[in-house]
Amino acid sequence: MFKIGCHLSSAGGYAPAAKQAFELGGDALALFTRNPRGGSVKPLDLIDLAAFSAFMAEKNFAPLVAHAPYTLNPCAAKDNVREFAFLAFREDLQRMEHIPGNYYNFHPGSHVGQGYDVGIEKIIDLLNTVLWADMHTTVLLETMAGKGSEVGGTFEQLKSIIDGVEHSDHVGVCFDTCHVWDGGYDIVNDLDGVLTHFDNVVGLKRIKAVHLNNSMNDIGSRKDRHAKIVEGKLPVEAIRCIITHPVFDGLPFILETPQETDAGYGVEIAYLRSLYEEKS
Ligand code: FE
Ligand code: FE
Ligand code: ZN
Repeated sequence: MFKIGCHLSSAGGYAPAAKQAFELGGDALALFTRNPRGGSVKPLDLIDLAAFSAFMAEKNFAPLVAHAPYTLNPCAAKDNVREFAFLAFREDLQRMEHIPGNYYNFHPGSHVGQGYDVGIEKIIDLLNTVLWADMHTTVLLETMAGKGSEVGGTFEQLKSIIDGVEHSDHVGVCFDTCHVWDGGYDIVNDLDGVLTHFDNVVGLKRIKAVHLNNSMNDIGSRKDRHAKIVEGKLPVEAIRCIITHPVFDGLPFILETPQETDAGYGVEIAYLRSLYEEKS
């Protein structure tokens, strides 16, 4: 089974975003829970969320892969930045209880000079504060490129975070192909080896979603610059191996590729569906 979609704006509401994903040929989607660069949030709209859930079920979509704002840094050094992370994370999770069974994906954070160990402790502290036993959302740590002081650029760091979380049954991983490549994992020549390594360190069952992006840079560059599916350093054959790999079967694949307009996602979705069909 192949579920593919893209990251769309939630400015007009969740239900309109799902409809747009469907019109682009998708049966998966991602959106920001709030302003990605500021953090402000729209009033809670229960009618929109109910329409969203109904549409997702009717069209047999994969779970939503909601994305936390970029400004959310759980391991910031500044108290006010960290306070925002706690507030926004908690509020987003409470809102997502109105659309149970979906994913909340976030960047573990940047330690900004405090070191990886301190960063990891602070991320664990946030998750142990905001997660609860019978919540209906799975929180996803995103695999990061390791740019600057980003935490989560290695599988071992993700494992350290998960190990510290009390309610780790509500924690998974979003596998970003651009980030993993930029982080130094050779998913072009040794996808199976990378996945075996992930399995040994974290466990493949933690992977709940894939950010399907090409990369503008070479392996290990730690740059985090996404490219269109047919334009980056990952050859089409590597993309095909990823989307048809049994480990990812049925998971939501989310495009975060640079596009002039959202219609560009529709072109990539159609192309990837044909690529998937050729092999299977
Ligand atoms: Fe992300
Ligand atoms: Fe991503
Ligand atoms: Zn990225």
